[in-house]
Amino acid sequence: MGLPESLKANAASSAEQRKLAGKHIIVNTRSSVDPYLTYSPVRATREKVWKAFVNRGDGGGATDNNALIARILKLRVDRAKLLGYKTHAHWRLENAMAKTPENAMQLMEAVWTPAIAQVAIDVAAMQAIVDADAKAGGASFKIAPWDYRFYAEKVRKAQYDLDMNEVKPYMQLDKLREAMFWASGEVYGFQYQKVEGLPVFHEDVTVYEVTRAGKHVGLWYFDPYAREGKRSGAWMNAYRTQERFKGEITTIVSNNSNFIKGPPGEPVLISWDDATTLFHEFGHAIHGLNANATYPSVSGTAVARDYVEFPSQLNEHWLPTPQVLSKFCVHYKTGEPIPQALVDKIKAADKFNQGFDTTEYLASALIDMKLHLAGDVDIDPDKFERDELTKLGMPQEIVMRHRTPQFGHVFSGDGYSAGYYSYLWSDTLTADVAEAFQEAPGGFYDKPTGQRLIDTIMSKGNSVDPVEQFRAFRGRDVKIGALMRNRGFPVPPGA
Ligand SMILES: [Zn+2]
Repeated sequence: MGLPESLKANAASSAEQRKLAGKHIIVNTRSSVDPYLTYSPVRATREKVWKAFVNRGDGGGATDNNALIARILKLRVDRAKLLGYKTHAHWRLENAMAKTPENAMQLMEAVWTPAIAQVAIDVAAMQAIVDADAKAGGASFKIAPWDYRFYAEKVRKAQYDLDMNEVKPYMQLDKLREAMFWASGEVYGFQYQKVEGLPVFHEDVTVYEVTRAGKHVGLWYFDPYAREGKRSGAWMNAYRTQERFKGEITTIVSNNSNFIKGPPGEPVLISWDDATTLFHEFGHAIHGLNANATYPSVSGTAVARDYVEFPSQLNEHWLPTPQVLSKFCVHYKTGEPIPQALVDKIKAADKFNQGFDTTEYLASALIDMKLHLAGDVDIDPDKFERDELTKLGMPQEIVMRHRTPQFGHVFSGDGYSAGYYSYLWSDTLTADVAEAFQEAPGGFYDKPTGQRLIDTIMSKGNSVDPVEQFRAFRGRDVKIGALMRNRGFPVPPGA
């Protein structure tokens, strides 16, 4: 097993761009480091690449961020105190759903313990592979952080045997757009009609009028294809928010992605992950389209950071429903629906490596919160990180997803400072609400549950406290059981 051809080609072209034709370069970015660590059988080079990556911003000299971070933390404490708060974290969380750092910490700690327990199990399975190789004459060593992705990939291949390229012929962009329309019609009562003649900023952009029970709800703009100068990735945008303060105003929302446009008349095939993202971004659009608020400042997606990803994550759950799979995920040549065996494999693979993913993420989220809860003290970021991770029992085989000196989410602006926990918070809400649908007689297409979702959550924006919204939908406060089940972790009693 060696490096995939695409990785070699990337490494060669990176070298060429740096006038080193004939050589190969692994650029020190996540998108080239992660695949290298996953596929390279050369252990010594994996170690070198890993060390360079995790020590970004931490190597002394002009690019070392430690002193800057200490100063940012100090200034944040000063500002919080001027504003009358105990710490920066207390200030940042006042308007979040979590409300207090203690609530956020409680959730993170509840998930941390089972996550690191899962890591211990996974590392044992990987160590067994190394030990068996050693018996057959290979090198003998203890799994180190630069071995984790490489051996996890071996386990994945052995346990799940899933080739994502088999899935792609069933994923046609046009059909998936129809699937989103159909599913949101079933759940939210939306109908979509293509509109011609409205001004658009590029000929690839299409516009649809959205109605419910014959009544105009808003417009949905779709800009699916990559082109020069367009921002990368996928996102939702509200060009106009629903409100009735300045009169009855309906919303204009858009979804944008970067699919490669095919030849005319040929279907654009996308990956399962991209289809999931498509449903995710459409979930943000649906949140905007369901808005029913008086004031634009609290309408639609104008909600707390730890709440905004929940309606969009929730919408991802409609992609793997049998209705969508059988009607819309059909082979672009034969028209046959995607085989159930393939779908089962995709679902099983969802639980793969959750110990690693959760632990590397949570280590960052916990350190973020602890840094901003420390208050008015001098902080040496390296030492703080080391000491706190030791206290947490951080597994030796994993490093934080973003170590402190390279934690752009938290230090390039206030945006995610004391807020990196938000992803887990939203995930917990999503899992719990998805389970309400799973438990309902009609599953994800259960009419009363869908109506309750509109009435209590999707239409409310930030006009009602998100804690109250959730309670009104679920009849209780959020529990972590559903999240734990999704990740394949043991469920604590009462959760
Ligand atoms: Zn999102």
